Amino acid sequence: MMDARSARIGFIGFGNMASAMAKGLIECAGIEGSRICACAAHFDSLEKRCKPLGVRAFKSPAEVVENCDLVVISVKPYLVGEVLSPVREALREKAVISVAAGLLFDFYEDLLGEGSRHLSTIPNTPIAIGKGVISCEERHTLDVDEWETFVGLFSPIALIEVLPGHLLSVASALAGCGPAFAAMFLEALADGGVKNGLPRQTAYRLAAQMMAGTAELHLATGTHPGAMKDAVCSPGGTTIKGVAALENAGMRGAVMRAVDATLS
Ligand code: NAD
Repeated sequence: MMDARSARIGFIGFGNMASAMAKGLIECAGIEGSRICACAAHFDSLEKRCKPLGVRAFKSPAEVVENCDLVVISVKPYLVGEVLSPVREALREKAVISVAAGLLFDFYEDLLGEGSRHLSTIPNTPIAIGKGVISCEERHTLDVDEWETFVGLFSPIALIEVLPGHLLSVASALAGCGPAFAAMFLEALADGGVKNGLPRQTAYRLAAQMMAGTAELHLATGTHPGAMKDAVCSPGGTTIKGVAALENAGMRGAVMRAVDATLS
């Protein structure tokens, strides 16, 4: 029976996303590096990536599959079919977790066949510091133990959100593309501070801590974002003047159009 306290995790492909997940598991969830193994296209650079984390490096997907219970498919989406075909039979004995964008239930059912156990997800890179999001397709074939093992391993380092397949790309736009939008707001707010005399690094620190604190406050209390805005706008005060300036510049519409643009 599979269990989050002992399950071995294998990554087929160990680039940006997979190493962020391994880093989060090891540094923020206390998983020993020796429980994790990986393979990639180039063994030398894989070894360099694995060594500081204590992750075991293997030369082929077949060795990874043999040495783990839960296999994370983390190569680029266009390579998944080609890379998994030679290990298709061995994968039927494992729990397969895909992080490849756009490859959903039907793709894996066709590739791995009836009776295989697979789950399609979209994580984001803040998982490396234990602040990730993993959006999961609600239709999957993991058994109860495997699903609980997956949740047990990853819920300490990511919010796990279960959604119908057709909403996974929208979730990815918010959690995956959102960091770029948030970073633009952070930079712009800091620019406003610098324009008015704050040193650049102080402006970034203040803006970043304010954004982290505001997000944490919403997550901790569930307070409506509109109520959080109202709470800092006194009548005739300075904050409401700033809010009016943002509304005049079309800030809300611009952000909504940015989400539309990622999906077009
Ligand atoms: P990446 O290019 O950083 O990593 C890809 C990895 O695949 C590399 O380690 C590469 O060596 C390996 N690889 C290539 N060919 C291989 C082969 N034949 N056998 C074994 N390994 C092979 O890419 P990434 O950004 O980490 O993306 C990986 C997956 O994660 C993609 O499917 C992507 O859709 C998904 N994803 C990424 C992000 C992100 O923010 N980077 C977010 C969500 C989902």
